[in-house]
Amino acid sequence: MSDCRSEDRLLTLAEALAAALDSIQPLREVETTPLLDAYGRVLAADVSARLDVPPHDNSAMDGFALYQVDLRLDPPTRLPVVGQALAGHPCSGIALRGAAVRITTGAMLPDGPDVVVMQEQCLIAPDESWIELEPKIAARLKLGENIRRRGEDVQAGTVLLPRGLRLRPQDVALAAGQGMAMLDVVRQPRVAVASTGDELCEPGGMLPSGGIYESNRYALIGLLRRLGCQVTDLGILRDDRAVVLPVLREAAARHDVLLTSGGVSVGTADLVKDVIAELGRIEFWRLAVKPGKPVTFGRIGACLALGLPGNPVSVMVAFLMFARPLLLKLMGMAPAEPLRLRVTADFAFRRKPGRREWLRARLRQDPERGPLATIYHTNSSGALSSLVWAEGLVELAEACAGVAPGDAVDYLPFSGLGLYDE
Ligand code: AMP
Ligand code: MG
Repeated sequence: MSDCRSEDRLLTLAEALAAALDSIQPLREVETTPLLDAYGRVLAADVSARLDVPPHDNSAMDGFALYQVDLRLDPPTRLPVVGQALAGHPCSGIALRGAAVRITTGAMLPDGPDVVVMQEQCLIAPDESWIELEPKIAARLKLGENIRRRGEDVQAGTVLLPRGLRLRPQDVALAAGQGMAMLDVVRQPRVAVASTGDELCEPGGMLPSGGIYESNRYALIGLLRRLGCQVTDLGILRDDRAVVLPVLREAAARHDVLLTSGGVSVGTADLVKDVIAELGRIEFWRLAVKPGKPVTFGRIGACLALGLPGNPVSVMVAFLMFARPLLLKLMGMAPAEPLRLRVTADFAFRRKPGRREWLRARLRQDPERGPLATIYHTNSSGALSSLVWAEGLVELAEACAGVAPGDAVDYLPFSGLGLYDE
């Protein structure tokens, strides 16, 4: 089967995504990984708390633990200090009524006392044998003041981290706080990346007449690594079926996803599309989008084959809008719509309705009109500099017939597409 569904009418992005997502099963293999290797990995199963955190009532301040009923408004409260509780060294004796216990931040609260007073609020005897509290201070101390209760942060048995979560530093820290040393994560997708084109030269080498330096792999590999994929770099492939076919066949046998750029547009050497069709099957190969229309989606055996366009802007936009959601599903993550902000256009743009279009854009804060979107001076899909200038994309729906200054438009910040600054 080849070229199905797409000869008469282009598939919309939504249709293509729905069909492609439907055909993808999340990876099932689980790896058990030490915490320090778990950042960016995707949890394979819910993580439930096995401990209350904190595990015992403890002090939030350096000060003195005492009974609230012992506080007096007149005369000032004077209490003997009968012991101490330090972090990691609980108080050994019993804290009796009418007495105070020296306590440090994080130290376990002795049985009995129900208030901690900060040391800065006490008059302390030079030998620390007693403390005195002004009536003003005593009046303000509520039951439980400066005490962190057992289970206040986390209760044993509750789900702390859901399956499908991509682990951030704070998630790994929460697991560490439960005493866990290892986490079960989903195996990373193995993705092979190739660029095609006789004109392409590897950076660092000489540039012959008619050649250009290759840039697409440098965008795609960075995007894939950020997503948490294991990338194999297949390099540059010549526009020659005898070169491309064996490389893709070999790579498809050992990877979950094949990602190529170039060689999928009509008229030029449509090599990649033909090779995918020959080795496997093509599900669809053109989308009603701009840039990025000649996206090819197919399979070679169990391997997903994604042929992205060659133009540097098209390849990146096609990756963000089409390839990224598929990879997220493969990784076991819940599909997330990109964040869309409704902002005011500070530009005019003419176009023919029919395709979903993304314009490279930036926001500027206007004191009266709020965030205003501006777009790059050229809309060429070859102008990679536009993506360096941009901080997001303005999205125009299929039916949109153009934009006038002052219109409301959707703005997709790069940060909502996984392209944040670090
Ligand atoms: P194609 O889809 O192969 O016809 O390529 C479309 C345009 O993108 C052509 O101008 C190519 O030179 C350019 N192009 C293709 N692949 C790359 C690449 N890897 N790096 C930079 N430009 C590329
Ligand atoms: Mg080409």
